[in-house]
Amino acid sequence: MGPRVPMVDLAARHARLRLEVEAAVAELLASGRYIGGIPLEYLESRLASRHGRAFCVGAGSGTGALRLLLQACGIGPGDAVVVPALTFAATAEAVLQVGARPVVVDVLPDTQLTPREAAAVDAGACAVLLVHLFGLKAPDPQLPAGSDALLLDDAAQAIGRVLPGGSGRAAALSFYPTKVLGAAGMAAPC
Ligand SMILES: *Cc1c(COP(=O)(O)O)cnc(C)c1O
Repeated sequence: MGPRVPMVDLAARHARLRLEVEAAVAELLASGRYIGGIPLEYLESRLASRHGRAFCVGAGSGTGALRLLLQACGIGPGDAVVVPALTFAATAEAVLQVGARPVVVDVLPDTQLTPREAAAVDAGACAVLLVHLFGLKAPDPQLPAGSDALLLDDAAQAIGRVLPGGSGRAAALSFYPTKVLGAAGMAAPC
């Protein structure tokens, strides 16, 4: 058997930034402000300007951010939300958490990202969650004529990609350790 190659070696990645991360964590613990505070405000404003958005709000997880996004748009029980077939389970989970119904639509064969042709997107859907995977921006879907469905971005795996001039009204990001930019501060090599 050949050598074992770990799928994601978080410890090796952390080693490269260890001193910087540990100093920041020590400073945070000493301040006693574990929730909110200046470091989060700084991150929120940097993320907002990096993505050309009016503002950014910290949440507990990418799933929580998706849920807030749906709630902020008034999506709830009785609503249908289009979710692409190729994504992580949390995309549909957030839709279920607000009491809405995920409508799973197959993706275009060329990009593997954007939900298929307009007709396949449920005409009754009030929103489409466009999922950007592997650090790639999914092209905007063609919505059925007359559809006023909201376009929202699940950018949990694509920080820095959901810029203005395309895609949705609001986007959710994730800092889960194995994402493109994990919470420990080390970007995945890609
Ligand atoms: C990881 C992921 C989420 C959820 O993010 P968490 O921070 O793990 O809750 C949502 N959507 C996609 C596409 C993801 O990859």
